[in-house]
Amino acid sequence: MDCLREIQGKQVHDPLFTEKMNKSLRSIRVECPVIVGAGPSGLAAAACLKQKGVPSIVLERSNWIASLWQLKTYDRLRLHLPKKFCELPLMGFPSDFPTYPTKQQFIGYLEAYAKTFDIRPRFNESVLHAEYDVTLGFWRVRCVGLKGEETEYVCRWLVVATGENAEAVVPEIEGISEFGGDIRHTSLYKSGEDFRGKRVLVVGCGNSGMEVCLDLCNHNASPSLVVRDRVHILPREMLGRSTFGLSMWLLKWLPMRLVDRFLLVVSRILLGDTARFGLDRPRLGPLELKNLSGKTPVLDVGTLAKIKSGDIKVCPGIKRLKRHAVVFADGITENFDAIILATGYKSNVPSWLKDRDFFSMKDGLPQMPFPNGWKGDCGLYAVGFTKRGLLGASMDAKKIAEDIYQCWK
Ligand SMILES: Cc1cc2nc3c(=O)[nH]c(=O)nc-3n(C[C@H](O)[C@H](O)[C@H](O)COP(=O)(O)OP(=O)(O)OC[C@H]3O[C@@H](n4cnc5c(N)ncnc54)[C@H](O)[C@@H]3O)c2cc1C
Repeated sequence: MDCLREIQGKQVHDPLFTEKMNKSLRSIRVECPVIVGAGPSGLAAAACLKQKGVPSIVLERSNWIASLWQLKTYDRLRLHLPKKFCELPLMGFPSDFPTYPTKQQFIGYLEAYAKTFDIRPRFNESVLHAEYDVTLGFWRVRCVGLKGEETEYVCRWLVVATGENAEAVVPEIEGISEFGGDIRHTSLYKSGEDFRGKRVLVVGCGNSGMEVCLDLCNHNASPSLVVRDRVHILPREMLGRSTFGLSMWLLKWLPMRLVDRFLLVVSRILLGDTARFGLDRPRLGPLELKNLSGKTPVLDVGTLAKIKSGDIKVCPGIKRLKRHAVVFADGITENFDAIILATGYKSNVPSWLKDRDFFSMKDGLPQMPFPNGWKGDCGLYAVGFTKRGLLGASMDAKKIAEDIYQCWK
């Protein structure tokens, strides 16, 4: 690739790299932007750049594009939001896709997207360290390959696209080593088939936890759901339209609080009082809460009916685990064969990006709130960290491409 240039002996006098040099650190000067992560966000950024005639290098730690979707999601997953809110820039979904494409359809779309824009990520390149070199005026991005070989890319623009879901969050639970049964995070859960006839405790009541419970029911397992916090559950559709689409439309005309009130009234009519089933609603409305804290409301795909019918039991927080048993916060002990942790994900940016200004070291997300969290200093960019899913990633990607293009041309 003509935007790559080997730098010979560049690090020889650099104390930071002297040790690694002995283990053969390959250094490559890159004329074009480096994008870290080949998920939907990284692909969108690369495609938008390509369209403007700007090449890029995409570094991906796994052997796949969209590794989250290919490797860490359950079989029955469909896009949670209607397809028109999940398209990447410059290429729509095929017209025969259903409103909520399946995971396989979405992966197929991403593969076609990468092919259309000729995006060929460098796979098995895990970025371990990236730092702005003030003297050089460039970013130094260090990766390690499968055999431990290290490569350093020296570039002017660094686009962080490693996602809000880079690492599974596994909570510390007292007695976890005593349990003895299968404990796994949802990133390792594929289907309820593995749990047929078993008593399974699902911890966490976001979209994934709720859907995993439904999947377990459909495979004749007996799921219970730990609900520790208050949660907004909304029907996926209302008044013949997607709840998400309807909310976006109403927000054009009405203040957020009024839209929230409308959503809650319609939800009450369609779903009933969720508090009766142990699912208390937060004090703030669903959109206001999402806006302030990033907490997404659950879009119900049938789980609530199973809770109402008693097929899924709602439990309080966990106090501790014992051998094949769980002691809950209310003191009651119940036996379980397995535990699924639907406890979410977190960004891994603080572990590798040495920048204290743009990204928060606490949660690994940009410090500037939406819509200003896409651009940092010295050629640093973030795509896909808006807590607004694929729609937010597409918006970031377009802005980043335009910004880099202005310097590139
Ligand atoms: C179960 C689930 C369902 C979702 N459904 C929807 C939906 O319907 N609609 C919607 O808009 N959003 C949805 N989202 C949210 C979000 O849009 C997706 O998570 C989407 O995949 C985000 O894309 P991304 O590229 O930002 O991150 P990711 O898809 O996580 O991609 C990041 C990539 O970066 C790579 N990477 C990470 N660290 C490094 C490193 N140090 N070095 C090199 N590579 C690295 C990863 O391997 C990965 O391939 C969903 C999320 C989940 C978890």
